[in-house]
Amino acid sequence: MIVKDLTNDPTICIVGCLHGDELLGKEIIEKLSSEMPRLPIRTIIANEEAMAKKVRGINTDLNRSFPGDLNRGNEERLAVKILEQTEKCKYVIDIHSTTSNMEDCIITTTQSFRKKRTRDLIKRVPIKNVIIMNKLIGKNSSLIDHVACGISIEFDYSKSVLFVSEIVKRTIRNIIEDRIEGNKDYFKIVRSMKSRGIIKIEVENFAEVKKGREFAVSDGKKIIAKYDLCPVFINEKAYTGIACLISKKLNVEQ
Ligand SMILES: [Zn+2]
Repeated sequence: MIVKDLTNDPTICIVGCLHGDELLGKEIIEKLSSEMPRLPIRTIIANEEAMAKKVRGINTDLNRSFPGDLNRGNEERLAVKILEQTEKCKYVIDIHSTTSNMEDCIITTTQSFRKKRTRDLIKRVPIKNVIIMNKLIGKNSSLIDHVACGISIEFDYSKSVLFVSEIVKRTIRNIIEDRIEGNKDYFKIVRSMKSRGIIKIEVENFAEVKKGREFAVSDGKKIIAKYDLCPVFINEKAYTGIACLISKKLNVEQ
């Protein structure tokens, strides 16, 4: 783990590489360190061991290992050390990249989203789509479930470092200058769709599928939506055995 403070009293913590095969976080952190040297930022490059081996995690998934345990494997130990570093920061922004062909999105969790502070932080980020994960995926053991106020951001893996760093920089400035961005669309995860057999999702991520409409084919059989839904994380490689997550779009601005 590499921890670096850009000033003496950092309030915003930027975390990258909880997953060792997502190097985007490290690249963004290196760019921020050189371009925003006087801002109250702490940066954490998390899972160096997994990065060296080009794997998601060594023993397990670090972002399912919080609050962690010093007597267990690499990821559980790291989780404890990361929380020691995020403790004094008011905000945590955790950077990921997705292999699903999906627009960038903010990730929160059911339990974190209950906090007004989290909802306010979300409004500082210049990204429209917000996914509210339930414990089905994160198991209440992701980093953002264990900090006072935090979000993850999933960037399309093909996005350039320049593009992503501009989003992160603007978010940091919005926090410091107390500015909010435009309206958001909120997608609440309700279940995952297993990828048994040959399954093909026939719509794009975030597409609004009305009740009664076909949206996928499994072993030649049509899959019909039982309620209005939006598939997300279609064919995400990190979600083994899962074809996509099923979300419901919320109607109200939170
Ligand atoms: Zn990730």
